[in-house]
Amino acid sequence: MSISDFTSDAPTFTGMRLDRAMREREDRAVVAQLLDDPEARVVAASREGVLIADGEEPSLLRAPLAERAPIAAQARQEPILLGLEDGAAVFAIELDAVARVGREELTGRGRIVSLREAGAILAHPDAGLAAYLTALLNWHRRHRRCANCGAATSVKEAGYSRRCPRCRSTHFPRTDPVVIMTVENDGRLLLGHRAGWPDARYSVLAGFVSPGESAEEAVIREVREESGIVARDPKFVASQPWPFPSSLMLGFQAQSDGGEPRAGDDELDAVGWFTRDQVIDALNGSNPGLLLPPSVSIARFLIDRWLRLHGS
Ligand SMILES: [Zn+2]
Repeated sequence: MSISDFTSDAPTFTGMRLDRAMREREDRAVVAQLLDDPEARVVAASREGVLIADGEEPSLLRAPLAERAPIAAQARQEPILLGLEDGAAVFAIELDAVARVGREELTGRGRIVSLREAGAILAHPDAGLAAYLTALLNWHRRHRRCANCGAATSVKEAGYSRRCPRCRSTHFPRTDPVVIMTVENDGRLLLGHRAGWPDARYSVLAGFVSPGESAEEAVIREVREESGIVARDPKFVASQPWPFPSSLMLGFQAQSDGGEPRAGDDELDAVGWFTRDQVIDALNGSNPGLLLPPSVSIARFLIDRWLRLHGS
């Protein structure tokens, strides 16, 4: 198998094709029209995952909005408009808030899978839509009250903001930036083992960007904190929505002049340099001492890319 057999052009959860309808969602009359359109569809998720339709090519299940009263009622009460698909509106349904009958009617047509599984089995555009749906519903679930004064907030802009009636604050969906990076020295890759992972599982290092810090500075700091290694020349590579519950992964590549890595914080319990051959053997399943992250993650995307760039 060649390395290109393992690689993808873009990280999973990117490539969502809906028009996000940023203009339409600001006009309540337009949103009302979209709700009445017989072509309007819903896609649904619960805390457990997203609702998919099985088949030769699995997809995110799209159901007519008007079909069942409990579903239509939720969509009308607090519309969460994801966007337009071929001109028709797609609304999000929070299954945890639908009455049992309505929920079963919808879930009976498909199956709920975790977002990770959805990323592994859906084509990129629908995996991206699943991530978008999950990210937005996660935010609404966790931000029902105003962070400024504690009052209950209401949905605005057809799901893109929440408004506090008491202090008049507007709250927008939150995204938490995380840097994740390959660090390379003399043909070797720096990988760490997180406490609690299977023994052989290793991945590239990662961490949240701190307040008042650039992403590039976060790369240097995280590598130093987690491994004691001095990284330099961080360059942005690609990003990935990662709504577990609300992260945006910022993928970087960096260099290092080497040194002996040591696990320096509570998150990692082992860290080390791995040669290209060791990583390739892991990809081929012939290195029992090294298990790489699944292809749904940008970690794996970055590792695959590193191998491709260091091909012999
Ligand atoms: Zn408030």
